[in-house]
Amino acid sequence: MSLNLDSLLSDVPGMPKRVLTSLTKEQVLTVREVVQWLPFRHEDRRRMDGASFQPSEIPACFQVQVTKTGNKYFGGRRGSGLFEAQVEPIGGAAMGGLLTLRWWNMPFMSRAIAEGQEMIVYGKVKEQKGRLLMDHPEYEILSEDDEAAAIHSGRITPVYRLKAGVTQKTLRTAAWHVIQALEEDFITDILPTPKEQGEFAGWSRARAMKAVHFALSLEDLEKARRYLALEEFYGYQLRVVRRRRAVLESGGHPHAAGPLARDFEAALPFQMTGAQKRSLEEIQRDMASNAPMNRLLHGDVGSGKTVVAFAAMLGAVESGKQAALMAPTQILAEQHFNTARKWLEPLGLNVALRTGNRAEEGGVELLNGKMSGKNDILIGTHALLYDADLVKNLGLVVIDEQHKFGVAQRARLIQKGNTPDVLVMTATPIPRTLTLTLYGDLDVSTIDERPKERGKIITKVRPASKQADAAKFLKEQLDAGRQAYLVYPLIEESEKLDATAAKKGHEEWAKLLPHFSVGLLHGKLSAEEKDLVMRDFRSGKIDVLVSTTVIEVGVDVPNASVMYIHNAERFGLAQLHQLRGRIGRGEHTSYCVLFVKDKDEEAKARLAILEETTDGFRISEEDLKRRGPGDVLGRAQSGQAPLRFAEMLADTRLVRVARQLAEKTLDEDPQMKAPRLAELRPFVFQEDTPQAMMQ
Ligand code: ADP
Ligand code: MG
Repeated sequence: MSLNLDSLLSDVPGMPKRVLTSLTKEQVLTVREVVQWLPFRHEDRRRMDGASFQPSEIPACFQVQVTKTGNKYFGGRRGSGLFEAQVEPIGGAAMGGLLTLRWWNMPFMSRAIAEGQEMIVYGKVKEQKGRLLMDHPEYEILSEDDEAAAIHSGRITPVYRLKAGVTQKTLRTAAWHVIQALEEDFITDILPTPKEQGEFAGWSRARAMKAVHFALSLEDLEKARRYLALEEFYGYQLRVVRRRRAVLESGGHPHAAGPLARDFEAALPFQMTGAQKRSLEEIQRDMASNAPMNRLLHGDVGSGKTVVAFAAMLGAVESGKQAALMAPTQILAEQHFNTARKWLEPLGLNVALRTGNRAEEGGVELLNGKMSGKNDILIGTHALLYDADLVKNLGLVVIDEQHKFGVAQRARLIQKGNTPDVLVMTATPIPRTLTLTLYGDLDVSTIDERPKERGKIITKVRPASKQADAAKFLKEQLDAGRQAYLVYPLIEESEKLDATAAKKGHEEWAKLLPHFSVGLLHGKLSAEEKDLVMRDFRSGKIDVLVSTTVIEVGVDVPNASVMYIHNAERFGLAQLHQLRGRIGRGEHTSYCVLFVKDKDEEAKARLAILEETTDGFRISEEDLKRRGPGDVLGRAQSGQAPLRFAEMLADTRLVRVARQLAEKTLDEDPQMKAPRLAELRPFVFQEDTPQAMMQ
């Protein structure tokens, strides 16, 4: 009987009893579970002798022999001790000196590791007072037993992320026997790639799955990963291409730009940048056509997306329709509303605001407290979506800061609004590969140029103890007429997180700056209170705004030129970049200080990139490197299948290949009836759930 994915592990020839017992306890019962439990990295254990220990930031793998072990205890508290094992490379200390492995508060280590043992260790080597050290390394003790030695060493060895109750060796042994027992064609291909030619000649899904566990060469391992990554991208591309086609087939209306847009541009207090003009032209071209527009406007914080959006909205108005702009927060909706009144009312348009709590008059009539079909421009939060009357005559919907909205909300608007044109705007600097994957159903315009005449932003990372000096500097800036944001990560003092809360910060700063008005903004304030604070900050009545991250997206007060971020170590790079985007919006030089806990060297190193650059793309790439794209993707689009071959995301070419394959597949088989596609069909045709919409 040949083995398949549903076979029981107990039917796998040669599977050791103890491995079976241990996996059964954890409910790991079938071949499928083991095959799909993918290694997260590999160690090349083919030739490990001769390696010498070198201090490095990059973790490395060594085959070593234990020469000495010992426990050390400090202080009175029980359990506060240190276990050390001194090791030398196989072949003797002369080959590469001695290394000391250290484990804190793990007294049981003294029973696991003994003199004379050979083992493999993985970790970072560092140098301290002339000693080479490795703290809490991953380790594996090598066994005398021949078969075990053949599985765990002398080869490219998979390393798995473990769940409770299963050891590295148990899982690897299980995978080894499963992979040996599986036939060459144990699973059918999903990809239509011709096997006779190209990069994947001779490859199949089965071969890739086997090689991703146990590969004979690094080239094979790489090829296997790429094959499986292509397969994953193919699934995503089928999904976005299908969505894109569905939108195009839904039939739209032409909304050509006319004299209004020209008057608008002429009346602006500045010249649009080349990138803004180009993006606007792309949008206007889409809007003028019969097919519905489905476009992403992508531009770093402060690149000036709003003005492009307003200009685009005029096209809809000119065709006798309404245009709506949806913002993720009330503060932002209010801000856009103010801008719209300033820029659009002089053109004779009427503008109305609608947010979660109330409808507000926008200079013109509201019917029964609601906005009416007579408003040319509707501005609001997603509350707009729930007013059926409001969205009947929409020609264009602009969605600001798209990552806070789901694909489903777009779909909802399209249903209600008679297939309006849709423009989504985001400042999330997503690398190109991710754009193609996440937003592959959208056309993309990029504003890759900042308006000139902008002040520079100078950024510094400082220890929290330097805040007194910072107060002095802040006073000078305020005396010169500038305004400032002081950002805190939490609103209540929380012992567990030991963050200085915004409220407490507000008290402190109010005392430090007696001659200035210090405001407080946080998420627990009512909408009215928030509006009031923001209005006062915008008008200059408030000089200093102490705030949580509610100001993160979009807020635009050009006179604010200082930002202090407390406990910056708590924030991700991308979020800090977004926050910092609140300053540097006017002509003045701006200053951003990131306060980190004293002596937090790790945070200092991580945030250093923000001192170097204000280029969102570079920062996001750095973020991607540190956090892994799975994480970035997971957050950007929760509810979708995670990409497991995430490291492949950097490979735009592979995504393009996947795109072409997906287009071809859907040309030939729009309903995906081919049996090989059965597994992917639910993912491709899945509509978003209401829960996903509310995020
Ligand atoms: P974002 O792309 O982050 O949403 P905004 O649209 O809020 O940026 O624009 C930031 C600021 O720059 C606003 O005050 C806006 O009026 C101004 N602005 C936009 N385009 C230009 C330009 N071409 N020249 C000068 N200032 C501009
Ligand atoms: Mg914005």
